[in-house]
Order: sequence, then structure tokens, then C-alpha cells
Amino acid sequence: MVFKETFSPLSSDEIIAKEKANMDDNRFEHCVRVSETARKLAKLNNYDEDKAALAGFVHDYAKQVPVEEYRQVIKDEGFDPDLLNWNRAIWHGIVGTYFIKRDLKITDPEILQAVWRHTTADVEMTTLDKIVFMADYIEPGRSFDGVEEARKITFKNLDEGVGYQLAHTLEFLIENRNKVYPRTLQAYNVWSIKK
Ligand code: GDP
Ligand code: FE
Ligand code: FE
Ligand code: FE
Repeated sequence: MVFKETFSPLSSDEIIAKEKANMDDNRFEHCVRVSETARKLAKLNNYDEDKAALAGFVHDYAKQVPVEEYRQVIKDEGFDPDLLNWNRAIWHGIVGTYFIKRDLKITDPEILQAVWRHTTADVEMTTLDKIVFMADYIEPGRSFDGVEEARKITFKNLDEGVGYQLAHTLEFLIENRNKVYPRTLQAYNVWSIKK
């Protein structure tokens, strides 16, 4: 795997090595598959394939950073203090951008925004935001009920894929009586309602 443009002073090999060192093998393989799926979705949607592949690769860079480190960074680096009421599922996108800037030296705002939004989505989503959000959901290693339909819809129409994922994630969260992050709900209201 090579990223032709790394959007960073680090080389492709250095980024890959840092990512590998920051997570277990299963998570790393997931990131590789998200990268490949993002490349495919980029091609289908006339987006820069290398940029999408890199964004997909780094999207979960900070997924396994220790909770205490997250709490410290949220307090010290100017993140919304309400984030302290959430957990790593929510932090690793939003606050993950801090670690990606710090360790991988990626500063491209579009890549960082796509990582920021990859778990919760948002009311406004760029093409890259949607590509990473959907690649994460439909990469070949995913096996939940409905994943085949999600893939079919997403490869046909990226926006409809976003709506499908948000509706199903919300269903899942409510089914399990989990807390819904307000932005996830706001995104649902934009992307999933029947027109
Ligand atoms: P992953 O990092 O590849 O496992 O995938 P994601 O970053 O998309 O999701 C991480 C977890 O966050 C999933 O289990 C989602 O169900 C969960 N999640 C997404 N939105 C919300 C939300 O609004 N509230 C809560 N509590 N969890 C959420
Ligand atoms: Fe994630
Ligand atoms: Fe996701
Ligand atoms: Fe992921």
C-alpha cells in the first residue's frame, strides 16, 4: 500500500508504520479495507482517489488511544467540554484529529474534517466526508444484518448510503437504549427522512 501524496512531511511508509504501532492488527486491517473501499467510492464519485484512500486509512488512527489521554487532550486543547460526557466511540473521530495532526503531521482540513465526522456524520457533508463515513460502514470485513443492502445502495448513490447508515445506526442505538450524540440526530434529520 502506497499513498502517492501523503499530505504530510512524512512518507507513506512512515505513516503506515505509525498507524500500525498505534493499534492492534484487527483495527489496522480494518483501516486498510476502509482505505481500499474509500478509493473505490472516490472513483465512482469523481473524487481524488489518493486523498480518499489516505483519509480512509487514518480515520481510526486514534481509536485505541487510552481514555485518560483523551480526557487530558479534551481539557488542554480547547475541545468542547461536553465531550467529557461521552466516550471513545465519539472521541476517536472528533478528538482523533488532534492525534492525527500531532503524530502523522496531516494538516489538510478536508481530510481532518472527514475523520472528525466519520462516526457521527453531520448536517453538512462534503463528498470526502461521505466517502469515509460510508467506506467505514461497508468495507468488506463488515458483516451486520443489512450490510449487503447498504453496499448496493451506497455504490449506486452515496447520499442514499449516508441516509441508510444514519437510520440504521439510530435504530441500533435506540434498540440498545444508548445515548444519541446530538449531531448524529441532527444528521439523521437531514439525510434519512423520506422526501
Ligand atoms: P469504527 O470506529 O470503525 O468501529 O466505527 P465508527 O467510528 O463508525 O463507530 C463507532 C461506534 O460509535 C459504533 O458502535 C456506533 O454505533 C457508535 N455511535 C455512532 N453514533 C453514535 C451516537 O450518537 N451515540 C453513541 N453512543 N454511539 C454512537
Ligand atoms: Fe471509527
Ligand atoms: Fe462509521
Ligand atoms: Fe472505522
